[in-house]
Amino acid sequence: MEASSSSAVFPAPAPIPAGVDRADWESFAWQMQNRVRDLAGLERWIEPTPDEARAVGDLARRFRFVITPYYASLMDPLDPDCPIRRQVVPSPLEGEDDAGLADPLDEVLHSPVKNVIRVYPDRIAFCVNNECALYCRFCLRKRMVGETGWSMQKRELEVALDWIAENPEIRDVLLTGGDPLIFSDDRLDWLLTRLRGIPHVELIRLGTRLPVTLPQRVTDTLCRMLERHHPIWVNTHFNHPKEITEAAAEACRRLVAAGIPVGNQSVLMRGINDDPATMKTLCEQLVRIRVRPYYCYQAQLLEGTGHFRVPIERGIEIFSALRGRTSGFAIPRFVLDTPHGKVPLEPSSLVGREGDEVVVRAWNGELWREPNPLD
Ligand SMILES: *Cc1c(COP(=O)(O)O)cnc(C)c1O
Ligand code: SF4
Repeated sequence: MEASSSSAVFPAPAPIPAGVDRADWESFAWQMQNRVRDLAGLERWIEPTPDEARAVGDLARRFRFVITPYYASLMDPLDPDCPIRRQVVPSPLEGEDDAGLADPLDEVLHSPVKNVIRVYPDRIAFCVNNECALYCRFCLRKRMVGETGWSMQKRELEVALDWIAENPEIRDVLLTGGDPLIFSDDRLDWLLTRLRGIPHVELIRLGTRLPVTLPQRVTDTLCRMLERHHPIWVNTHFNHPKEITEAAAEACRRLVAAGIPVGNQSVLMRGINDDPATMKTLCEQLVRIRVRPYYCYQAQLLEGTGHFRVPIERGIEIFSALRGRTSGFAIPRFVLDTPHGKVPLEPSSLVGREGDEVVVRAWNGELWREPNPLD
């Protein structure tokens, strides 16, 4: 039988660059200290196009430009359309659209206390810090990540914890940011212990991109600590199959081995993952590393990210094309985030009612009449 492309070595090895010590490369601290922050740093990894070089100079001030060496090593040095490169290297297109909003979800309006976002009765997003390992050009929270005004002092975390303790309807707390795994194990342990001390907090979730952008952060020590605070759920953020390397798969494996269900939230982006074949590969490779595709977000109308946006109808087509053609649990729900919460974007399979029958359309276009009398 002919080998399919998916039977190539999987997950893809991500070799340690020549001249770098293995212990350094695998150290969270080394990765953070040696991040790419300017054009000279970028030139160690790729040959920037004149446009990219100009954008690094012009736009890096408006939205921080930082890349971990690990993630930088995944970039194609010669191809400016590389899906890794496009996520983190500034593009002049960012300066062209000023139509977007800084805070499209009115998150500031929905914050009862600083950095707590509440749009649902029973759960909150708690932005515990404003730091990430690297800064994604399409980030929804561009307004706050890397900005000192949004950082959280321990005292401010206490204010948020007090608010949660005073609101017994909050049963599910999503720690996000920034990235909660930027915290040291000790700081995170302190925070989780405090949350666990609030009896009505049933679930704690972590939204983190570090398994993708700095997988070296997910150590056994971290996982042993997280395990003590179960039930803990993690959602990470892979956007393209190229990100599913051996190192990223190992980070997810450690989380799963600690009994943590790991999900994925991606963003649908033009030229990165906006075709059915790429999306199908991404989703199938995620379930191979036991990561469950959870949401795929429609990219928001956000300042400087217009060039990533895809028409919603196209997104619906992409996910319809997966239905019936891959494992059901490999298909994420395509959603639009709004100030009122997440809204699923799906074609209706309901054709209509005909008397005592309801007519539905299956994945392959076949119609089915289901006997279903009205009461
Ligand atoms: C996404 C989100 C949640 C969690 O939503 P789920 O659909 O339960 O995953 C909670 N609060 C806010 C503000 C969110 O944006
Ligand atoms: S990791 Fe997440 S929060 Fe941080 S810059 Fe990227 S998209 Fe934004």
